[in-house]
Amino acid sequence: PEKYQSMPYSRVLEVYREHLSCELVYFPDPLLLHQGHMQWLFDHEGNRYLDFFSGIVTVSVGHCHPKVNAVAQKQLGRLWHTSNLFFHPPIHEYAEQLSALLPDPLKVIFFMNSGSEANDLAMLMARAHSKSTDIISFRGAYHGCSPYTIGLSNVGQFKMKLPSGEGCQSTMCPDVFRGPWGGSHCRDSPVQTIRKCSCAPGPTGQGGRCTPSNMWGACFFVGLLSTDCCQAKDQYIEQFKDTLSTCVGKSIAGFFAEPIQGVNGVVQYPKGFLKEVFQLVRERGGVCIADEVQTGFGRLGSHFWGFQTHGVLPDIVTMAKGIGNGFPMAAVVTTPEIAKSLAKSVLHFNTFGGNPMACAIASAVLEVIKEEKLQENSLEVGTYLLLKLAELRDEFEIIGDVRGKGLMVGIEMVKDKASRQPLPREEVNQIHEGCRRMGLIIGRGGLFSQTFRIAPSLCVTKPEVDFAVDVFRAAVSQHMERRAK
Ligand code: PMP
Repeated sequence: PEKYQSMPYSRVLEVYREHLSCELVYFPDPLLLHQGHMQWLFDHEGNRYLDFFSGIVTVSVGHCHPKVNAVAQKQLGRLWHTSNLFFHPPIHEYAEQLSALLPDPLKVIFFMNSGSEANDLAMLMARAHSKSTDIISFRGAYHGCSPYTIGLSNVGQFKMKLPSGEGCQSTMCPDVFRGPWGGSHCRDSPVQTIRKCSCAPGPTGQGGRCTPSNMWGACFFVGLLSTDCCQAKDQYIEQFKDTLSTCVGKSIAGFFAEPIQGVNGVVQYPKGFLKEVFQLVRERGGVCIADEVQTGFGRLGSHFWGFQTHGVLPDIVTMAKGIGNGFPMAAVVTTPEIAKSLAKSVLHFNTFGGNPMACAIASAVLEVIKEEKLQENSLEVGTYLLLKLAELRDEFEIIGDVRGKGLMVGIEMVKDKASRQPLPREEVNQIHEGCRRMGLIIGRGGLFSQTFRIAPSLCVTKPEVDFAVDVFRAAVSQHMERRAK
């Protein structure tokens, strides 16, 4: 890494405590980063870390990717800013590229600067179009921290303690691992962790009677035989209908979903669930919004967009984070009809949204994803990672679940497999710290911060996965030894 003189670590800590508002920092002695290159980070002492969280699922193609950097530098010397009052080709070129990646009729783009801003606008659109108020999101959802979106964000620590979220309704998250009805054989992941579930009896007659002692075997068999998510999905649908019945009036404005929940700890829903919910929402006059802030741009491997993995077509798609590889950029894409409804309600304007720098960078990101076949890499390397982690799950009593798709992976830590109680935060912290000491950066999520999240840049390789899994195994083993003492 490049060596440069800068503020000493002790002063950085003081400035952080005295002047900076951010409360969410990993580790008691937070990392002081000096440089990044692709999937690698370097701290102030020159230590190297494999970055398996990519700045919260954001650095999609690698830190300081040479091609993206070159494009950014070129644009820096050409034009930074238009305030959207004037035209500039990189903006229109990017709009054309992005719209080509979305199915009809999702063709009208609004550029924004962050995920919260994008979801704010999507809420406004849903209300303008439906002429209703209520918007539903899942418990455990994270859609932003702005005064509007905070009402949709239902992860414990982000829940607003002041009156907020007028017209926002939360509904039960169909979490197939932690939820009451199980059904984890029904999720779209190469790893099928099977737990006690309420699936309909299969030909073996075992499905409805899984007990903790036979839950892996019996349900697994039923899971293989069942093509649908049977009762678990249906039970969650009943909950959704119950929420609909509590909404104000006959119609609702919309429904927000992350195709896989990120902040909540890579939570997946039963297959077919979103499809049924979209139908119920539309029957009530609402629009369906896919929040692709974490799941878009090839992260899930099998598809470019997360909604495609559920076989649904949203009315509005919001995106941020990976769209700009870490440069502030976001977008809302919708139908001409919904865009018209918004225009009737407000003259929408955003000074920085889709500025020349952001658009040039986002174009380069798309080109890199295509040229380097990063979506394909996400599928291949992500599946390899998931299967290796599943072996660890079977090895350690405190790894309750491994799940995800492509390079969006969750490892849920539990006290023991039978109870599925979250592993106490202090213990999860120690394992987290252990990974960091051995040169691996991973993330955290879930209501109790009990889930490790892995979402590296999409360029990671299988040898790097081997390294990460070895480090994780060592960190968990060391923790088990400490626990045994
Ligand atoms: N939606 C999702 C799914 C997110 O994960 C986040 C950020 N964690 C947001 C929206 C908000 O994005 P931002 O922090 O850019 O406002």
